[in-house]
Amino acid sequence: MKSFFNNNSSPVPEEIRRFLKRSSLEKVRIISIAILLIAFTNDKECLEKYGSVLMPFSVFIIAAAVLFLIGSTLMLKKGNFPQRTVDIFSTTFWCILCIGIVPFIVFDSFVRPFPINMTMLLLCFMMLPVTEKKRASFIFGSFTVSNLILASVGRPSTSYIITLLVICAMGYMFSRHIHVNYLAMITKLTEETRTDYLTLAANRKGGFERSRSTLALCKRHRQICAFYMIDIDFFKAYNDAFGHYMGDNALVNVSRIIQDVFARKSDIVFRYGGEEFAVCASVDSLDTVTYLAEKLRRAVENAMIEAGDKSVSDNLTVSIGATAYVPAKTNELVDETFMFSMADMALYEAKQAGRNRVIVKYASDYTNK
Ligand code: GH3
Ligand code: MG
Ligand code: MG
Repeated sequence: MKSFFNNNSSPVPEEIRRFLKRSSLEKVRIISIAILLIAFTNDKECLEKYGSVLMPFSVFIIAAAVLFLIGSTLMLKKGNFPQRTVDIFSTTFWCILCIGIVPFIVFDSFVRPFPINMTMLLLCFMMLPVTEKKRASFIFGSFTVSNLILASVGRPSTSYIITLLVICAMGYMFSRHIHVNYLAMITKLTEETRTDYLTLAANRKGGFERSRSTLALCKRHRQICAFYMIDIDFFKAYNDAFGHYMGDNALVNVSRIIQDVFARKSDIVFRYGGEEFAVCASVDSLDTVTYLAEKLRRAVENAMIEAGDKSVSDNLTVSIGATAYVPAKTNELVDETFMFSMADMALYEAKQAGRNRVIVKYASDYTNK
């Protein structure tokens, strides 16, 4: 039950994990209440005929529903349970629910023209977020087969069997439809909150999140992790000379150039804000840190976008501040915020030194002063 949403192509962000954790507890609560209502209202007919046999199961399922109702309410109130505890709690609930309802499904086939209890269980199953087609087919397939076997005990009419098959097939289709659309919507919204509207590069939130994991990976694999802050020179003058519409176009073009230079899938390019961009990339050597920054600086200048202020160059240029996490040299406790602020200090120096240049600074350059 644990990882219906574990899909390598779309990592599920923390806030959605929290939402799913809460919603699995809420489902336990809602279904517990539903079971209590059904148990007290729906089973009269069954109980009249087969009361002595069904009574212990009724008591069992009602007791379980009460316990899980209290448990899920308490857990929702406390709210800080680990994912594992929630998974074990809801898996146990589903197992008990499936086992407890078996006698009712069997007795349905004796006394009713319609598999009511199976339909109730199917409705509960549809609440499970099963998004993978293979897994959904397996779950609903085994559900159908086991219900057919259970129903066959009572030798029900053909119409009963057909109804059962049709309801199971509809349940499968509904479940796929709901959850596939739901997941697509979550993925789209998640991406949108991490994407810059203008340049379609990552925004600061997305960029920092990915940089955090890249830095952690570099620390673990003892690799150099480079951080860059890139600021367009005299961009205010560019807007003043050519207007904001052209300014926006220039931002999109510069963003594309940065993404062409840092084109590896593992490279993270994002808009830090305004006319500032940032990059986090795992690299092989310290020479590469400088080489890539220099390559980018030249690429922007050679793109021949006319400058608004031509005091440094006739073309639009960028200033770049760079730094890197170097295994065994950089303090292991540094985080991405610290690394970007160090790159920002280097960028400030590049601006002071006359713009259209690269300055690379390492933590040791500051501590040795
Ligand atoms: P410097 O070389 O010192 O960086 O000078 P600058 O003019 O680039 O820096 P400043 O911070 O003075 O101005 C930044 C400008 O960037 C001002 C703002 O109008 C412009 N800008 C920020 N975001 C956008 C945007 O989304 N679109 C457009 N067209 N302009 C933007
Ligand atoms: Mg700026
Ligand atoms: Mg600027």
